[in-house]
Amino acid sequence: MKSIKTVLLVEDNPGDARLLREIFNEDRSLGAEFVHVECMGDAEKYLARHAVDIILLDLGLPDAQGLEGVRRARGAAPGIALVVLTGLDDEALAAHSIQEGAQDYLVKESYGSPRGLLRTLRHAVERKAMEEALFAEKERAQVTLDSIGDAVICTDVSGNITFLNIVAEKLSGWTRQAALGQPMTEVFRVTDAASHEIAAKPTGVRTAPGPSEHSPSTRMLVRGDGSAIPIEDCVAPIHDREGQAIGTVIVFRDVSIARAMAQQISHSAEHDFLTGLPNRMLLNDRIGHAIALAPRHRSKVAVLFLDLDGFKYINDSLGHPVGDKLLQSIAKRLVGCVRGSDTVSRQGGDEFVVLLSELHSVEDAAILARRILKAVAEAHAIDHHDLHVTTSIGVSVYPDDGLDAETLIKNADTAMYQAKENGRQSYQFFKQAMNVRAVERQSVEESLRRALQRGEFKLQYQPKIDLRTGAITGAEALLRWLHPTRGLLSPARFIPVAEECGLILSIGAWVLREACTQARNWLDKGLDFSTMAVNVSAMEFRDDKFLGGLFEILGETGLDPRYLELELTESVLMKRAESTASILQILRERGVKIAIDDFGTGYSSLSYLKKFLVDTLKIDQSFVRQISTAGDDTTIVTAVIGMARGLKLRVVAEGVETFEELEVLRAHQCDEAQGFYFSRPLPASRFAELLKNGIPKPKNVASSSIVPSQEQLRFGVGNASRLSLGSRQV
Ligand code: C2E
Ligand code: MG
Ligand code: MG
Repeated sequence: MKSIKTVLLVEDNPGDARLLREIFNEDRSLGAEFVHVECMGDAEKYLARHAVDIILLDLGLPDAQGLEGVRRARGAAPGIALVVLTGLDDEALAAHSIQEGAQDYLVKESYGSPRGLLRTLRHAVERKAMEEALFAEKERAQVTLDSIGDAVICTDVSGNITFLNIVAEKLSGWTRQAALGQPMTEVFRVTDAASHEIAAKPTGVRTAPGPSEHSPSTRMLVRGDGSAIPIEDCVAPIHDREGQAIGTVIVFRDVSIARAMAQQISHSAEHDFLTGLPNRMLLNDRIGHAIALAPRHRSKVAVLFLDLDGFKYINDSLGHPVGDKLLQSIAKRLVGCVRGSDTVSRQGGDEFVVLLSELHSVEDAAILARRILKAVAEAHAIDHHDLHVTTSIGVSVYPDDGLDAETLIKNADTAMYQAKENGRQSYQFFKQAMNVRAVERQSVEESLRRALQRGEFKLQYQPKIDLRTGAITGAEALLRWLHPTRGLLSPARFIPVAEECGLILSIGAWVLREACTQARNWLDKGLDFSTMAVNVSAMEFRDDKFLGGLFEILGETGLDPRYLELELTESVLMKRAESTASILQILRERGVKIAIDDFGTGYSSLSYLKKFLVDTLKIDQSFVRQISTAGDDTTIVTAVIGMARGLKLRVVAEGVETFEELEVLRAHQCDEAQGFYFSRPLPASRFAELLKNGIPKPKNVASSSIVPSQEQLRFGVGNASRLSLGSRQV
């Protein structure tokens, strides 16, 4: 226990002061130093420089009357015990001074025995020490509670708030001041997240001692401003020494982030990461659900399988980030086409599936398919590109085409392939006969494997014509398959299958060898031309053994590499542009020429094209066709020619069918042309005749589609073996 070493008496009455001094001097056992000052001013000065253990304060000082003296003494020595001295008539004031912070009071002239006085003073010092300790403890608790991450609210036994920490203030939206004394149910309003009903009150849950209770994790705290946040809370009763409940402590925390994360995790298990659309799993679920409801509503269910046309091309040439954005843009358009009750899902890649539940007529599915075709085909503005894609759609209907999700999706997929074959940007309803086609495709693959050994492949050669001189500049070798039962098949029918199963590598090698052998053969016979063009597909060009194989073939056949031109599409070049550049460099060093086939249909970057060592651009026939279909509007084809010429490359127009097309091309200084107007692809022997005699007057032009012009009438006049171009005879 703290002993009293110094007593400070603040007393203006000399008699009273003397009396106390005598008491202290009389009893030496007190062992305390006795200091006396006569006014508050002196007391303050003394306290500023000296430590004392207790202050005895007269309430009637000349410079501090009544409670003012108490306040000033508290102010000058806040941690020191204070006992006030008062007259008999002033006990009420003395009681007030205790509220102001004094520990006790003594009535003058009835101090009793020195021991009694000493006891009073000691008690006052002890009480002050306890108060200080209690304050410190409370302060520590408060700071602790304010610095933890959890919110804490305390209530008394009747459920009124006695304490809120800072986090609780923040989360509840109540300030401590406003909340104190309020019923807990006002400040801590909790509802059930699912039912939005007010949740059971945490207070009174249980008042028996024991561990705290955790509430279910779906609770929402309604804040002062009416907004709500998800919380996790637990309640514990506070007991007094006798075990009586005197209140509760509620601890709670904001679990918005954790709950959002949990929701995110369950969302991403069922949704596509890129587009946010339901994934395959959720779609199957929804189809199952729609099928279950269909009989009750006497409705049908339609599944639309979509595959984008030419998406791979965009992805390869413009890069994945652009491809991704395009998929997102398409996802948005699709969602915009359907009702809220329908489901648009992404299957992966460029495939989407749309589920139409509660379909009343099959025609509704067709209407939607048409709407989707239109919506997807509109330009997508992505990263300064105006991208154009189309889609092919296959439709299957429950219950006609399948009774479960798996069959419906499979059949819609089959129908989609048919739609693609019919011509892109179309839709197709599933027919049972289509399954037969899938089997047929399988058989194509099998017979393709045997075709090489059986020598069923042939090459045909189509001439390219110099538009200034009319002379044949060379040939493009085009592959044909003489199928034992199905007759002559064009490459479009079997090259995609050959690419899919990898057979294109051996087929491509055969084409190269055959074309080089043929070219050498013509040269040996003295037939002159400048290039033999061979189409090379992406898979061949990317094959590690491609260059080695090519040079081996050139060596074996003895063809001068300068006579060989490889036709590559834009997307083949753009993909992995760096390695492409080095392959092109090697080819250039060896003298092999490079043409970009179907130019204008891809999304090449012009700056790349400039860097590539390319000799020729072949303008795709779709642009040439615009000349005869778009009337006077030849802007696109002339722009493409201009672009190609800008790159200082030789320009070849593909697929020239009419005189009108030829005229426009020639007027815009296109270097060469190729097409049915001059000659269809021919067997080698007939091509050799062309080389010998030149192009005859074109016979195979559908003359009804051309208005005969003066020039045309003159066509073929003169040297029959030479081609007349426009008014100039060559
Ligand atoms: P391509 O390289 O653009 O070849 C031009 C295609 O247009 C040829 O079709 C040709 O017959 C056709 N054509 C030529 N003039 C006209 C015309 O005036 N009007 C119309 N409507 N069409 C014309 P084909 O022979 O069916 O070949 C199609 C595509 O198959 C070729 O397009 C080429 O990409 C590919 N291909 C052909 N042979 C081979 C080959 O040996 N290897 C590879 N990898 N692909 C080949
Ligand atoms: Mg070609
Ligand atoms: Mg082409």
